[in-house]
Amino acid sequence: MYNYSMKQIELMGFNINAVSMYEAIEISRYLIDLDKVTHIITINPEMYEIANEDYEFAQIIRWADLVVPDGIGITLALRIMGHKVSRLTGIDLGYRLLKEAAANGIPVAFVGAKNHVIENAVKNLQSKIPDLNIVYYHDGYFDNPMEIYEGLKQASPKLILVGMGAPYQEKFINNAKKIINPALMIGVGGSFDVWAGEVKRAPKIYQKLGLEWLYRTLNEPYRITRIFPALPLFLIRVINKRLGEKV
Ligand code: UDP
Repeated sequence: MYNYSMKQIELMGFNINAVSMYEAIEISRYLIDLDKVTHIITINPEMYEIANEDYEFAQIIRWADLVVPDGIGITLALRIMGHKVSRLTGIDLGYRLLKEAAANGIPVAFVGAKNHVIENAVKNLQSKIPDLNIVYYHDGYFDNPMEIYEGLKQASPKLILVGMGAPYQEKFINNAKKIINPALMIGVGGSFDVWAGEVKRAPKIYQKLGLEWLYRTLNEPYRITRIFPALPLFLIRVINKRLGEKV
């Protein structure tokens, strides 16, 4: 077993791996070489809220091979618990993994987003990363997942990015484990929308300040109901726990 457990921090019932981008890439290399389907989760406070009410989803997070802190909510919570950890977003990790895959001749596949979005994302990514070997892709709106698993099985990609939002993407990945050939799978949320040029990523300054959520909420106001109350509720629980530990 690759030894990255030392970087593991328990946060409200889930183990988070406090790894840098460099370490995450190293670990991904190791996971891709394993003879099984492996799973990376980039966790955020909304996922904690979902897991509170969805036992299957909570278990899937526990079974994941690597769980990295995506978003300011998680890094803030870790800070409150006394750990200084930097964030590692799904979109950044996903993109770096694609570049790695291209450089090493690793076949990749995409599942998720609307049909025209995934088509455009494929075109854009292929032109940005010319050596990228995309052996399969499908939109994220399907009735029968078995058709997608069959497609993945036949194409045999070693790296699969799934962008259907939580908890669907994580469940899709978990159910794939017994069906498709060994591969590393990662949920990337709305990344295909950004790569397709449908949605603009927050300017660097927002990213630096950890205010990407604010930018996305201003541009896609429906998100407000997802961030609130998930983010403040989550932080209140973390603070409660921390205070409880201190007394
Ligand atoms: N999506 C999908 N299938 C569905 C529902 C959503 O493929 O049944 C896609 C949607 O088109 C979008 C992504 O999942 O591309 C959801 O991204 P969201 O912004 O909700 O995820 P986040 O980045 O917030 O995790």
